[in-house]
Amino acid sequence: MILNIAMDGPVGAGKSSIARAVADRLGILHLDTGAMYRAVGLSAIRAGVDLQDEAAVTAHTRAIDVAVAHSENGQRTIVNGEDLTDYIRTPEVSMAASTVGRYQGVRREMVAIQQRLAATTPMLVDGRDICVRVLPNAPVKLFLTASAEERARRRWLEMCQKGDTTPYEEVLKDLRARDEQDMNRAVDPLRPTEDAVIVDSTEMNFDQVVEYILGIVKEKTNE
Ligand code: C5P
Repeated sequence: MILNIAMDGPVGAGKSSIARAVADRLGILHLDTGAMYRAVGLSAIRAGVDLQDEAAVTAHTRAIDVAVAHSENGQRTIVNGEDLTDYIRTPEVSMAASTVGRYQGVRREMVAIQQRLAATTPMLVDGRDICVRVLPNAPVKLFLTASAEERARRRWLEMCQKGDTTPYEEVLKDLRARDEQDMNRAVDPLRPTEDAVIVDSTEMNFDQVVEYILGIVKEKTNE
């Protein structure tokens, strides 16, 4: 059987880095679905599409080819053959991803690609709707979270290290705005499914979270 692990959680819970570390330890791929919504958002911005126009964004998404490739440095996210990975981590693209992610047609396109990939390759898939929509039958389902203040603090420290001087309060405000948009959208809002194990990392460090998750995987898959 193909080992698929579904992982959801709000922004800044450390999902991407935790997911990558866990996937590496298990020798499986990590699919970062947030990067795909980001790539769609950036592609729409570049094409001059009004992000508030659901029909236009949906048509744009259907017209483009979104693909991923896995390199030694992790996932590359590619639109119409162009690698957008280095341009999708800006605050503007974060918000754009959250906006285009509200649209049913966009979600349908992304979910179909993700399901196709996971059907043939063992992978840990991280995102917002993985447990409920993308991999409802995954043997391991996780909801990784931490308090909003702690998530903002981690994000802010990361930004400081890169020389970004955005104040903590602003980072917290943006994070709450994205939480609000992700948790209250009509289509597949972010929330833990009943069968997901909730991993609250507020009081845990990176290695502890990784070990804890590996323990859950072992227990669930009897490996
Ligand atoms: O995980 P990341 O912060 O990169 O995701 C960017 C945005 O993409 C999220 O805020 C969310 O709105 C959207 N997203 C989504 N469904 C997913 C993954 C991400 O709606 N499976």
